[in-house]
Amino acid sequence: MPVNVLFAGNPKTWPDYREALPAAFRRKGVAANLLERADDPGAVDYIVYAPNGGLSDFTPFTGLKAVLSLWAGVETFQDNATLTVPLARMVDFGLTEGMAEWVLGQVMRYHLGNDLYVLNQDGIWRNGDFVPPLARHRNVGILGLGELGLAAARMLKGVGFSVHGWSRSAKSEPGITCHSGMDGLREVLAKSEILVLLLPLTAATEHLLDAARLAMLPRGAYLINPGRGPLIDDAALLAALDTGQVAHATLDVFRVEPLPPAHPFWAHPNVTVTPHIASETRAESASDTIAENVRRGEAGEPFLYLVDRKAGY
Ligand code: NAP
Repeated sequence: MPVNVLFAGNPKTWPDYREALPAAFRRKGVAANLLERADDPGAVDYIVYAPNGGLSDFTPFTGLKAVLSLWAGVETFQDNATLTVPLARMVDFGLTEGMAEWVLGQVMRYHLGNDLYVLNQDGIWRNGDFVPPLARHRNVGILGLGELGLAAARMLKGVGFSVHGWSRSAKSEPGITCHSGMDGLREVLAKSEILVLLLPLTAATEHLLDAARLAMLPRGAYLINPGRGPLIDDAALLAALDTGQVAHATLDVFRVEPLPPAHPFWAHPNVTVTPHIASETRAESASDTIAENVRRGEAGEPFLYLVDRKAGY
């Protein structure tokens, strides 16, 4: 009997998944009916999910075996009381590689001081105004050493940067100085000339970067946030930008998205706003993750990438 898989992602992405998911099910040897609508919710076995698909009440899906998220960040729905089956988040090599490339690009912008030339095409010959250190002499911090943070850390290490990471559990990764705990956080912050945030948003990480922690960074540090907006206390960051404690910030994610036009980040000369584009779930590679989890569910094997709903990520 084929399983019934309901697509409840952003309807705009349906044309991509309508092609990619059946192909992935075939590759994994899974017999599945892919549904765009649930005419009989009780017959749905799996839901491919994104919160911008509009579904928020899972109660009618009485035969549901798992919800398979298209998003890596699950903070807006992982505590949904009607979602009582296992919830898997998205880990997709497209998302991971895309994020590592984006982080590298933003780090290189700051490291090389590109803005000095890009923003000043004014006839002034600035030869010798700025000589960047070599990457090996530049300390980059990454908060969050999960799928995305670790991939970004490895990419930066590969270029030669001196990379310092921080995670909840202690880790060991060749060539990367790994820390955990609050003392570890202080050590990473104190080193980070460029700091990248790749933490999930949980009760423990909200406002992690408050005034006190921003003050622990070396003066004139650069901040890159592709994690989640509320990791940072916005008012504290604006104050740190105004004093020069933080020289510049590239922010991809915000407490309210789209970032309202009147928000001071848009107008601040030392902030670059990007519209939550750091990395996208790619239909083809993400469909393989979904299909593998459906295959595992049907074979009685443990699902991959289950969300720890107590920890919130
Ligand atoms: P992940 O694999 O779950 O990794 C999360 C990392 O954060 C882990 O290393 C985890 O530590 C660490 N962490 C969690 N809570 C912590 C705490 N209280 N203290 C210290 N470390 C903590 O997640 P991921 O796939 O890398 O994704 C990270 C986040 O990126 C997502 O949650 C999402 O918000 C964001 N994201 C943004 C975009 C974008 O386009 N801007 C795209 C995708 C994802 P352990 O290793 O010890 O568990």
